[in-house]
Amino acid sequence: MTQDVPSRRDLVRGLAAGSLAAGTLATAAAPAAAQQAPQQPAPDAGAAPALSNPRDRFPKPPFPNQSQPWPALQSRMTPVPDCGETSYKGSGRLAGRRALITGGDSGIGRAAAIAYAREGADVAINYLPAEQPDAEDVAKLIREAGRKAVLIPGDLREEAFCARLVEEARQQLGGLDILVSNAAYQHAQQNLADISTEQLDQTLKTNVYAMFWITKAALPHLPEGSAIIVTSSINADRPSQYILDYACTKAANEAFVRGLAKQVVEKGIRVNGVAPGPFWTPLQVAGGQTEQGLKQFGSTTPMGRPGQPVELASVYVELAAASSSYTTGQIYGQTGGVGWP
Ligand code: NAD
Ligand code: MG
Repeated sequence: MTQDVPSRRDLVRGLAAGSLAAGTLATAAAPAAAQQAPQQPAPDAGAAPALSNPRDRFPKPPFPNQSQPWPALQSRMTPVPDCGETSYKGSGRLAGRRALITGGDSGIGRAAAIAYAREGADVAINYLPAEQPDAEDVAKLIREAGRKAVLIPGDLREEAFCARLVEEARQQLGGLDILVSNAAYQHAQQNLADISTEQLDQTLKTNVYAMFWITKAALPHLPEGSAIIVTSSINADRPSQYILDYACTKAANEAFVRGLAKQVVEKGIRVNGVAPGPFWTPLQVAGGQTEQGLKQFGSTTPMGRPGQPVELASVYVELAAASSSYTTGQIYGQTGGVGWP
């Protein structure tokens, strides 16, 4: 039923949604203002997304057939993923913080990088040399937010590079207090027999070894109050039959989060994970899905569509922010209503 004036239930729904939306301080005020004068924009309405049905907010399947050689560029995807470039509004939640994000050129890492900068953090991103154009877009957006952008291309499958990456980020940012292990490799195969040892190595090195190497290198330098965030997946607990190697690495990501959180709490460092369901990102068009899986991507979720990276931005902000001081060892699921974790 369409209503011009929001009902009480709509307002309550709006409040619940607002607590997770970008620019949380400003969004919480929007429904209250609507209650007083529903036809008038609130004074800070520019910081709040308009209320709308979340099922209808972003592109839905079927998606056009497409594939790119790995690692894909998000600028060449149809539709181009929404990482908050034109929509994310910050409110100073990470003022003065210094973040390193792997896979920060595209998809979910890019949404985190944009949000972190607009929340007041300086940001270093890592990516593969072939992804330079996507990375430069992100650097431009970080600088437009008035923050420092540091670009450090390189291959995370090499231990020596992982150590260098942390050192360079630390030097150039003047320290480090947010570490986001987000890069990953995913390649769909119909059968276990099709997963070569080469693929297994690539998946494990990128998704698990690099997380260990980077965290080991960063830990001695992270001050009290720092946040470590690892991107896992719904596949950690509900594995698809087509990405067995990937699913195993995502389960490892979650075990790492839960165990390391207990180990480093004495140092005053928090460790949390994010477990997305289907999100529209380059990883999916570079072999991450079967052709049919890509066409119908997100269709089996109650939302009826994949998430867009911008819909995760505020989760990465929340887990990094000092206000989440009691939050550690948690996995934040964002699955479009699948009912997990
Ligand atoms: P993405 O392709 O935008 O990001 C993955 C990034 O990993 C790439 O941009 C690339 O820079 C980096 N990468 C891969 N191999 C690398 C290597 N050897 N060295 C350096 N960097 C390397 O895709 P995304 O979906 O945003 O992926 C981000 C995270 O989200 C991953 O951990 C992925 O497992 C997780 N995730 C994604 C989905 C989804 O549906 N897209 C669902 C659950 C979890
Ligand atoms: Mg990329």
